[in-house]
Amino acid sequence: MLTTTSPRSPGGVLLVACYELGHQPLSLASPLATLRAADFAPHASDTSVEPLDDATLKAARLIAISVPMHTALRLGAAVAERARRVNPDATIVFYGLYASLNADYLLRALADAVIGGEYEQALLALAEALDAGGDIDALRIPGVRTRRTAAAPILQRLPFAAPARDALPPLRSYAHLVRDDAVIPAGYVEATRGCLHTCLHCPITPVYGGRFFVVPRQVVLDDIRAQVVAGAGHITFGDPDFLNGPGHALAITRALHAEFPEVTFDATIKVEHILERRAAIAELGQLGCAFIVSAVESLSPRVLAHLAKGHTRADVEEALRIADAAGIPLRPTFVAFTPWTTAEDYLELLDFVAEQGLVEQIDPVQYTIRLLVPPGSALLDTPDAAEWLGPLDEAAFSYRWAHADPRMDSLQRELAALVERAAALHRPAAQTFADVRALAERRLERLAPVAARAGATTAVARRPAPHLTEAWFC
Ligand code: SF4
Repeated sequence: MLTTTSPRSPGGVLLVACYELGHQPLSLASPLATLRAADFAPHASDTSVEPLDDATLKAARLIAISVPMHTALRLGAAVAERARRVNPDATIVFYGLYASLNADYLLRALADAVIGGEYEQALLALAEALDAGGDIDALRIPGVRTRRTAAAPILQRLPFAAPARDALPPLRSYAHLVRDDAVIPAGYVEATRGCLHTCLHCPITPVYGGRFFVVPRQVVLDDIRAQVVAGAGHITFGDPDFLNGPGHALAITRALHAEFPEVTFDATIKVEHILERRAAIAELGQLGCAFIVSAVESLSPRVLAHLAKGHTRADVEEALRIADAAGIPLRPTFVAFTPWTTAEDYLELLDFVAEQGLVEQIDPVQYTIRLLVPPGSALLDTPDAAEWLGPLDEAAFSYRWAHADPRMDSLQRELAALVERAAALHRPAAQTFADVRALAERRLERLAPVAARAGATTAVARRPAPHLTEAWFC
């Protein structure tokens, strides 16, 4: 049996990722490089594509679980419970956005420490402190919160090492780009961390508070190069918003295109930035941008105001025109169900998707996304929160809420099941959309269903858009 008590032993630090939207986890590759540079020999495991055995858990003195999103935290909590049983002496730390947000519960129930914000240097400092024989409950390390010591997340630009991807599962295990009939391995990088904006529903807002940090251009380009050499023909820029730093984004994509003209990329860009930075969008089209993901969230002025999104329905229409002119398909994402979304709003959203010819550009799961309110959400501080917010369900990592119109909550549940079934059966997006729309019209008692209204489905003609094989889940 493998045993160790030293974080410096091979596998003495174990980094675990559970789900990162089908990407090879940067949240493993980046701290792997930082720890190796300080003479640690960490092991990394991505449970979304490979088993994590008991021997690996037992060998670790420090088990660090990456939780950048809600799904990752749900899965990571189960890993922590198992790790505690298998290796009760190990120190368990959660790191990433959802670690900070759920710190109170995690420290009480599952974790010895949590790290939010910029995590690499805090993880390294924690490993070094344990190596020096420190007692976890007495440690005072910047960015590391324990049961006894409070510490704010580190929010400053720290040194970045070029991510180490050699110990991770190969790119063929992860999401691919589907373009026409080709299926192309996709890599993943981040050119920035955090976000300049403060949309109220976004988990980045309470952690970064409107700040973002640039990853050095050379670090990003080296990481891209390593992934292209490993087989990537497409790169996802996973920045919360790629045009927070437009000069940085363009410099990197120009260099990418100059070195690898055949490699395409995608990025997430908010509607406001598409409107403000049209010339940048046009240039991204020339540099090989295969698609842009944009968090449209809703078309309802009331919902958009509640989320402080900073755009309108007319802005979304204009963003579509700008993307069309650049030859870049726009792939909208939605928060389709919120406490403020009326039945009319929901049906209007589906009408918009049909009229704009967006059916092939939207992952059907987007029609089912329900507002998630994690602990610490900026929505908790809004003046009317008491009117719609229910109790915190700590073990579910979110607050409960119920819609004033019970049809909306039951429709959301039915649609989620419908879309999950359709995904399992690989149904075409158009068929799933038609089923979603028909069910919504029945349940919401639309008097003149679309099928009965001549001309109501006239769509803008669009070519099928490239997409990744992993649907977007948060
Ligand atoms: S622009 Fe996007 S990433 Fe930034 S705060 Fe708003 S929703 Fe979050």
